[in-house]
Amino acid sequence: MTDAPSYGFDTLQIHAGAKPDPATGARQTPIYQTTAYVFRDAEHAAALFNLQEVGFIYSRLTNPTVAVLQERLATLEGGVGAVCCSSGHAAQIMALFPLMGPGCNVVASTRLYGGTVTQFSQTIKRFGWSAKFVDTDDLDAVKAAIDENTRAVFCESIANPGGYVTDIRALADITDGAGIPLIVDNTSATPYLCNPIAQGATLVVHSTTKYLTGNGTVTGGCVIDSGKFDWSANDKFSSLSAPEPAYHGLKFHETFGPLAYTFHGIAIGLRDLGMTMNPQAAHYTLMGVETLSLRMQRHCENARKVADWLENDDRIDYVTYAGLPSSPYYERAQACYPKGTGGLFTFAVKGGYEACVKLVDSLEIFSHVANLGDTRSLIIHSASTTHRQLTPEQQEAAGAGPNVVRVSIGIEDADDLIRDLDQALAKACG
Ligand SMILES: *Cc1c(COP(=O)(O)O)cnc(C)c1O
Repeated sequence: MTDAPSYGFDTLQIHAGAKPDPATGARQTPIYQTTAYVFRDAEHAAALFNLQEVGFIYSRLTNPTVAVLQERLATLEGGVGAVCCSSGHAAQIMALFPLMGPGCNVVASTRLYGGTVTQFSQTIKRFGWSAKFVDTDDLDAVKAAIDENTRAVFCESIANPGGYVTDIRALADITDGAGIPLIVDNTSATPYLCNPIAQGATLVVHSTTKYLTGNGTVTGGCVIDSGKFDWSANDKFSSLSAPEPAYHGLKFHETFGPLAYTFHGIAIGLRDLGMTMNPQAAHYTLMGVETLSLRMQRHCENARKVADWLENDDRIDYVTYAGLPSSPYYERAQACYPKGTGGLFTFAVKGGYEACVKLVDSLEIFSHVANLGDTRSLIIHSASTTHRQLTPEQQEAAGAGPNVVRVSIGIEDADDLIRDLDQALAKACG
């Protein structure tokens, strides 16, 4: 099919990027389990290597199964191109790689996935990059943090885990003014609940491990480009605007226009960093994306029911879910995320650390795992697991105090989830 913008989300999540297999007519996208592709002749090979012709060379760079997923995610996010990679964390490095260099920094929200905080505050220093963390609700602080070496602002749309939702439009106004890209991690919201590009974002990153695949089978990531940023407006983005020595002085932006960032991601990023998604993973994720809207509707509906029930239970101190009218982010969520605020939230148990540990051990349907965005309901007590190494003050600041658990509400029967929480809380707080 042609991916006409008139098709609705439910149609595109099944069809975008996919045609019946030209070799066999296979209706489902085949898993092209191959490392390399035969060149038509020596001239064809030379044209491919010179980036004069687009085609398949070697699966570290491109693979037909992965290409279908790339086109589907680009379409769902309203971008011009996408590069899939081996994990969400790989996608974050791939997203920053064309923009950054030694001495450059990214201004990042303080409300990020814990692994991203570690990657940004520690590991990227090895590349000579750095991150400046700011509260993205404080727009003056965001503006003040941007300096001449800042190459991007990075945030999450719905920030895991504290029931926080970002005003992407407000941040995009700032990055537009500063002439730098806005990168939005849209993992927790998915393109069904939020379209960062429509709200002004330049780039979108995903951990496809989560809701896009949807059933906890494979890790993966994706970087999607809006195609709207002018990389040649100043000399900050020389990887994209200046001659590239590895391709005989080719200038990506001049040569590929709006696809410059995507081509750079493949021809330099995947070629040299090698954080490639394999075709099996792309297959599982394509299967997941086909039902994304249906699952997200149920995740939101169930999360709202369970959060409501918990908020009214006297064993619970508080619930942080932007879909509850008690949330300080409720109004913003209604305006910016009208289809719902996802399936993730935290709640505080009156019995503290001991009660939380007993709660996770007593649940029967919920699984105690370090993951989210599964069809199954998941729970984790951060203070005794992912945030164990932090001081009590750091745990509180991260919304992971000793009395707090995080849930990722699945698509089971909401009544069963509530019954399970009820019986486990009886044991935990008994
Ligand atoms: C899981 C996650 C990541 C990291 O993704 P991996 O696939 O685990 O590498 C990044 N951002 C968010 C919001 C996540 O939930």
